[in-house]
Amino acid sequence: SDALMLEGIEKVYNRGEPGEIEVLKGADVAIRAGEVVALVAPSGAGKSTLLHIAGLLDTPSAGRVMISGEDVSDLGDRRRTALRRSKIGFIYQFHHLLPEFTALENIVLPQLANGVTQSEARTRAEMLLDRVGVAPRAAHRPAELSGGEQQRVAFCRALANGPALLLADEPTGNLDPDTSDRVFDTLMQLVSETGLSALIATHNVALAERMDRVVKLDAGRIVTSK
Ligand code: ADP
Ligand code: ADP
Repeated sequence: SDALMLEGIEKVYNRGEPGEIEVLKGADVAIRAGEVVALVAPSGAGKSTLLHIAGLLDTPSAGRVMISGEDVSDLGDRRRTALRRSKIGFIYQFHHLLPEFTALENIVLPQLANGVTQSEARTRAEMLLDRVGVAPRAAHRPAELSGGEQQRVAFCRALANGPALLLADEPTGNLDPDTSDRVFDTLMQLVSETGLSALIATHNVALAERMDRVVKLDAGRIVTSK
């Protein structure tokens, strides 16, 4: 089954109020297992809204969301949270690491929240940091890491619970072009080694073209371009 299927997704903010805005008008996306898809759209088109809906952080005004073949549209909050923790990894433009915890701890914590033991969580965090080349910095806090290192740690955190689906919103958008290219290489390597399915929003056409497929969000709908 598809890792993610969004069907007829509509999203209206502030319905019936002065600020009413219809952002999504029937968006359809399907991501097969192991497929890495770029999501391209102009700013304000609704990329973040779509990713939040796909990641069960927000609900659509209409339409269906399926994760690994399970229709999650009508699940309660508790079940949605459990599913999000175990099946979905997020990466944002800014790392959003917890500043008072070390790189290692930032990767351990989501695993503890998911019921993994402390020692298993540490082992997995060390393995992930090693894969992205940041193992020597495991004991540093985010403020002591470079921008590229911070984002690599954020990748590890997103993969901490072995998700089936990775959602990323401009994952290297905050980095200078050289760092962005190197960090993006690491991300693509990690995704392909893991066999993960991913939906990655980016403005960067060169990066988008390195993925399996590019979809565009245009006037509230998905237009497939390749
Ligand atoms: P993108 O990520 O493509 O820049 P967003 O999904 O962030 O786009 O936003 C799409 C549109 O929806 C924008 O016009 C934005 O102002 C509006 N919007 C986003 N979130 C909200 C919200 N919580 N309430 C009202 N309007 C919102
Ligand atoms: P960048 O070239 O990505 O901008 P920085 O100049 O911020 O990187 O940092 C260069 C190196 O120094 C990085 O490996 C970073 O981890 C390390 N570093 C920066 N600030 C600190 C700090 N306060 N404590 C320890 N290491 C640091």
